Amino acid sequence: MAYTIDKTYALASKEGASQKASNNYLILHSTANLGASAKNNASYEKRTWNNAYVHFIAGDGIVYEVGTPGYVAWGAGPKVNGLSPVQIEMEESADVDKQRRIYNTYIELARDMAKKYGIPLTLDTGGNGVKTHNWVSQNLGGTDHSDPYGALKRIGVDKAQLANDIANGAGSSVATKPTPSAPSKPAPSSGINWIAQNGVFTLHQNLLLTSDATGNGPLIATIRKGQSVKYDAYAYSGGYVWIRQPRGNGYGYMATGNAKGTKRLDYWGSFK
Ligand SMILES: [Zn+2]
Repeated sequence: MAYTIDKTYALASKEGASQKASNNYLILHSTANLGASAKNNASYEKRTWNNAYVHFIAGDGIVYEVGTPGYVAWGAGPKVNGLSPVQIEMEESADVDKQRRIYNTYIELARDMAKKYGIPLTLDTGGNGVKTHNWVSQNLGGTDHSDPYGALKRIGVDKAQLANDIANGAGSSVATKPTPSAPSKPAPSSGINWIAQNGVFTLHQNLLLTSDATGNGPLIATIRKGQSVKYDAYAYSGGYVWIRQPRGNGYGYMATGNAKGTKRLDYWGSFK
């Protein structure tokens, strides 16, 4: 864990909801308050909890806890608050580099908390999983917000990228440091059943090329929509169909769609 959790503004036991939440969803928000620090947002929610609050506000390498994780918070409307043990706000900054670090903190926290509460690392799909406030508005109702997509757009993160990062992780969440570059010797993705097949995958959306197919490897590059990747094998792993790209110093790995077991559910590009 590279971020710090600060509990200065955590609600007291007599403040906020006292019911435990069911472990169905983890809700992603954005503060919609450009330039206001995570700390200021947390202090505001501590003062106005009887209006609305979430569990965590993610900042630049630091996270402020407001609501008690595992218990209901009032952040995403009556349809989901009782089903969401963790709701996270992302601080919004006009400084793009800082926003990226905040984003990395947000993603790392979301992944850690989803794992802690047994919530699948899927984004905005049916069933349990990580959901944006936007998804709640569009699919369940009871609320009309569309965050965090507007804020994510400012750093070039679309829904597909967010889904990838929730599944696989983003860069370092350490404050004021750039994201680490890929190592020269990528770790092998052993233990995965690779099926040999040579082909070319052309992306229909921006996707990540990472140094393993477990979802935890460092990023090699973001490959853009319309570009192609040559591969020599594919595999089903962790809810995705992966391809393996031979590189000068090993392999790069890319998720090309969702899978259930060995059944592909969708395509994020086309194969030749
Ligand atoms: Zn929201």
